[in-house]
Amino acid sequence: MQVIDNITALKDVIGKKKKKGLRIGLVPTMGFLHEGHLSLMRAAKAENDCMVVSIFVNPLQFGVGEDYVEYPRDLEGDKKLAAAAGCDLLFSPSVREMYPRGYATFVEVERLTNSLCGLSRPGHFRGVTTVVAKLFNLVCPDRAYFGQKDAQQAFVLQKMVADLNMDLQLIIGPTIREADGLAMSSRNKYLTPAQRKEAVTLYKSLQEAEQSIAAGEREAEVLKQAISQRISAIKGACLDYVEIVDTTELCPVLLISGKCLIAVAVRFGQTRLIDNVIVEV
Ligand code: AMP
Repeated sequence: MQVIDNITALKDVIGKKKKKGLRIGLVPTMGFLHEGHLSLMRAAKAENDCMVVSIFVNPLQFGVGEDYVEYPRDLEGDKKLAAAAGCDLLFSPSVREMYPRGYATFVEVERLTNSLCGLSRPGHFRGVTTVVAKLFNLVCPDRAYFGQKDAQQAFVLQKMVADLNMDLQLIIGPTIREADGLAMSSRNKYLTPAQRKEAVTLYKSLQEAEQSIAAGEREAEVLKQAISQRISAIKGACLDYVEIVDTTELCPVLLISGKCLIAVAVRFGQTRLIDNVIVEV
C-alpha cells in the first residue's frame, strides 16, 4: 500500500493508473476506521482494479463548538487496517494541503440540505460536498463508496454528482452495526459504558417504527411520537430530531407512502449519534 500526503504525488500516481486503464474505487473517510469503513473498502476492492482510501478529518464540515479537535485519530492503526482490507493507495493530506491559504471555493447542494442534519449542523453539508468534490477531482474514481449510515450525506452527494455531471458511480453500502444493533461510528468511542448500553435505543426505536408500519400504521406523526417517547425516556439523552422524509427532496411527509427515510439524531452529553432506516410500502 502506498501512502501519500501531498497532491502533486497523488496526481502523478493517479495519472499513471488512469493511463493504464485501471478502474479506481475511492472510499473517503475521516479515519479511526471500523467495520463500517472496512465493508466499503472490501466492496471497492472487489469492484475495481485499484482501491484508494482517503483519511482526512475535514475541518470545513465541523461547526463552531463541534468535535473537530477531539475527533478520534489513529493514522498508524488505520494504515494497518486499510492495508489488510486491500487498500492500494492511502491519501492522508494535511488541512493546509487541502485548503491552502486563500482557499475560496465551495460546493453547495441546496434544498436537500435544509432538513435533518442540515438544520442542526449549519454548513456541515457544504463542507462535505466541498471536500468530496475535491477528492473526486484528485482521485478521478470510477466508483466512490459511502455508507447508508449517513443517509442524508448519501442523498446530497448523489444530487451533487448528478447536478455537476460528475463522471462516476456512487455506491451506497449498508449500515454496519454492532452485535446489539448500534450503528458503528468513530464517535461511539466517546460514549461512557452506560451511554453505550442505552445508545442501542436509536436502532430499537427505528425497528419498532418499521414494525408499526408493517402492522399498518401510516401516520408519520404517530410514528415520530413513539420514537421520540422511547428516546426521551433515556436518562441523559437529548433528542436532536426524529424525522420522516421522502427520498427525493428529503421533505417531511405526513403519511408513509412509497419510499421514506426515518432518521434520528440524539445527543448523549457531547456525543451526537445518528441512525436511520429506509421503509417502503
Ligand atoms: P466517516 O469516517 O465517519 O466520515 O465515514 C466515512 C464513510 O464510512 C462514510 O461514507 C460513512 O457513511 C461510512 N460509514 C460510517 N459508519 C458506517 C457504518 N456503520 N456502516 C456503513 N458505513 C459507514
